[in-house]
Parts: sequence; structure tokens; C-alpha cells
Amino acid sequence: MSALHTSSGRNAERAHGFDRTGAVRRDLHPRERNILDQKHIAVFVNPASTNAQADLDAGFALLREAGFSLSMETVDDPANLADAIREHPAEIVMVGGGDGTTSCAAGVLANTDRVLAVLPLGNACDFARSLGIPRDPLEACRVVVEGRIHAVDVARVNGHTYLNMASLGLSVDVARRMSGEFKRRWGVFGYPKLLWDAARAARSFHVTIDCDGNTVERRVIQIGVGNGYHYGGGMTVADDARLDDGLLHVHAIHPLPWWQLLLLFPYLWAGRVREPERVIAMTGAKVKVTTHHERTVNADGEMANKTPATFEVDPGALKVCIPAEGPIPGLGV
Ligand SMILES: [Mg+2]
Repeated sequence: MSALHTSSGRNAERAHGFDRTGAVRRDLHPRERNILDQKHIAVFVNPASTNAQADLDAGFALLREAGFSLSMETVDDPANLADAIREHPAEIVMVGGGDGTTSCAAGVLANTDRVLAVLPLGNACDFARSLGIPRDPLEACRVVVEGRIHAVDVARVNGHTYLNMASLGLSVDVARRMSGEFKRRWGVFGYPKLLWDAARAARSFHVTIDCDGNTVERRVIQIGVGNGYHYGGGMTVADDARLDDGLLHVHAIHPLPWWQLLLLFPYLWAGRVREPERVIAMTGAKVKVTTHHERTVNADGEMANKTPATFEVDPGALKVCIPAEGPIPGLGV
């Protein structure tokens, strides 16, 4: 039987109680043996997520065959999800939902020894996409059985945890137009359509951005502060951004005619816009954004905060299950 391994083999043995042959180690600290004995995964599914009705049985059967016991709970309110995870003692917490649900779990699991396993059931699932976790529930469960643990960064905006991207301006308009019905009808193709609709109606606003002490003041139509690699249904924060680089990647788009925004969009999608006449691009560990008028900040799809907003990165704070091998676009491994 294979088990979850950390990136470091020795750490894997200590954390999970297996030696290199897969046999149970007998020289563990009592607390570690306890964890091994439990070998339990707490599964929380958001029933409101787009693919919540997917067949999860095969994946759960795979986990049981690998020796894990499971407890399952459906939680539709993020506030209840945070409490439910806090109250459950399981070492591994599997969360089925979209990026908002996953970010909520990350807020509880960050800076603990507990491990997040992602079951991508949402519309975009950019965090799972960045980590190379398949959309197929069976294959996502296989990541827990055959994969390893890796520590990724979490970001916070005014104390609210997020994983992929927090933004204000155009993207908030897009998110507000993105109703549940629209998501179901258009899927990931809805994002570019909505971005296009919003771009034609975009209004600029004045902003001050302080990134690790470097300050710019401009009129912009959009500001994004990315922690991860993918966001917005497959868009890229920056082609050199990673979930484990200890950095926030900031981009702000200058006011542009709609047709120039249209031309810019493929480069935005690929995270390859650096021309100072069109985009402000900065990287840092702490970013402050101030606007003349209060503006809403969208963090991984949740309307989380208002400006003034302080964005900070917490490097390596969250342990997650990732595939043992294969392309992992959002990590430097
Ligand atoms: Mg980063």
C-alpha cells in the first residue's frame, strides 16, 4: 500500500509512520502513532458547488482501499465550514467545492500540521489547476493515496485568507454578473464573456499602490494581487508566479479603449503583460492599496473586503496534497 508522502522522504516517514518499503514504523512518538492509528480523512463537501452531484463513490472507495477511514459532512455556509474543520481532529481534511470553499478551509488549516486535500467540484477550481490536481474525483482522490505533501503560500487581504487572486475594479464587476445560473450555463467560458461585457463598461478610478515601500499613484480600471498561478477560470497571474515563491504578484491595468483591452486579453490570459504603458507590474511580500472612494475587494470569488486593503503573503503556511509527478504549473518543483 502506498501512502501520502511529503516532498522529503524522511519527513514522510515521520509524519505518516511508514518506512521506505511502506511498512509501519514501530519507533514513533506516541502522538505520531496516534495519528497513524486514526489514519482518518475528514471530507467536507459544499453541496452548492457546480459539480457537487458528481459521483464521488469510486474515489472514496479508493481511499478506503488504501487504508483510510472517512467521515463525510456537507457544509454549504463558509462560516459553518470553518467551524466544522476546526472542531474535527482529522489530520487530513478533504474539501470538495470551488476556490471560495477551498480558501475558506485554507484559512483554518494554515499554520497547523493538518493537510488539505482538494476535491475540485467548483466551476473554475484554479487552485486545483495550479497544483495539477485532476477534475475527475477518482483521480483527485488518487492524489491523496499516491501523492506527496507540499507547503504552499497563503495570502491575506485585511486578514481574510485567499489562495489565488484578490482584485478590485473590473473583476468585481465580472464576479457580480456571475450568477449561479450563469456559471452552470456557460461554465469556464463564462469568464471571458463576462470580462468582455465588463470591459466595455469599465470605469477608471484613482489608486495608490505601495508594494514593499515602492509607491505608484495612477488611474486604473483593475488591480489584481495574486498569490498563486491560475485565477478566473484558467487565466495566469504571471508566467513566473508560483504558489510557493513567497511573493505576491501585482498587476494594475491602465484605462484603455475597449478594443485595446480586447487585444490585451490574450496576454492577460497567459500572464505575459509587462509593458508599462498598459500595465503596472510589481512583486513583493506586502502590498497596500488605497482608493479615493471605498471599493470592494474580490478574493477568490468572495466579496471579502473593502479598500483601503493590505495584502500579505504567509510563505509555506499551508500543507497540501499534490501529485507525485506530472506537470504542476503553479509550483517551483
Ligand atoms: Mg506567489
